[in-house]
Amino acid sequence: MAQIYRKKKKKRLRLKEGFKRFLVYSAILIAILIYAISEGIKVHKIMEYKKTYEYKINQIGYPLEEAKKISSTLNDKQLEVILTEGKYNEKYYKIISQKYFLKKNYQKYLDYLEEHERTTYEKTIALVNTHANEEWYSVTYDTDINKGYLILVNKYYHLKEDYQRVDLEPFSLSYAYGKFGENKAAKIVVESFDQMQADAKAKFNVQLMVNSSYRTYKNQESTHKYYGDKVAARPGHSEHQTGLGIDITSIQHGGGKSFGESEEGKWIKDYCWQYGFILRYPEGKEDITGYDNEPWHLRYVGKEIAKKIYDEKITFDEYYAYYVEK
Ligand SMILES: [Zn+2]
Repeated sequence: MAQIYRKKKKKRLRLKEGFKRFLVYSAILIAILIYAISEGIKVHKIMEYKKTYEYKINQIGYPLEEAKKISSTLNDKQLEVILTEGKYNEKYYKIISQKYFLKKNYQKYLDYLEEHERTTYEKTIALVNTHANEEWYSVTYDTDINKGYLILVNKYYHLKEDYQRVDLEPFSLSYAYGKFGENKAAKIVVESFDQMQADAKAKFNVQLMVNSSYRTYKNQESTHKYYGDKVAARPGHSEHQTGLGIDITSIQHGGGKSFGESEEGKWIKDYCWQYGFILRYPEGKEDITGYDNEPWHLRYVGKEIAKKIYDEKITFDEYYAYYVEK
């Protein structure tokens, strides 16, 4: 009896050991399998990465940081052009890194750079964004009149002949020339100017005078006929037709170029943004605005935007292209 029992016990023991071995082998096999799969995934990932533009552009000599930004900014067609060139060219990264870069203008920036070797990236972006890379008036668009006090009127964007502001109000004759009602502007412009001239007078003893303001299409037609393209805007292209532009002058120093050197002119330059106005045709931006420096011509854009334009040292044309039209 005892012997049989021992045999049975031995058999059971063998079975148990066999099962243990089976488990160990299985575990090893599973570990190998997991390792192989993870390695496979790794290899697959590397292979997939090698197919990306980021990798390919990095491979032809672009630093990884640049390759990353270029491949995430441009479209496939544009990226293929860079790959075809086959070697590093700083212009691509420089262009897309500019503050006012707009994707839609990418090819135009490249074309402009190609034709103007001595220009800067910053200037290229500003000119192309505002269409000022084209001859004045050579391309023109109906401006969007639903933009409130952000209507853009310049040598490319115009108002229709029948455009008429409905909220025009006269300036007080205590700070406007001409007969009552001759100088008028959009209600908000009159109110803002009223506040500004009062502060200038009270705090700085500076008297601002409105010399010219709202003009109709017909007014502008005769102004343009008299002065020509060099000084006057073509009808429909004058900011004065928007009712948001005003020319100011100084009682002692008059208007014109010398206004910029007068107390009033200097005051305007420093403080007008606080009342929602900007200098519309500033010095050094002639090739963007299409006008000589006009220290007397103010444009109303509202306080927030006037501050932004003042802080960023850009023109309204640039502001509109980048922040409004996009
Ligand atoms: Zn003006």
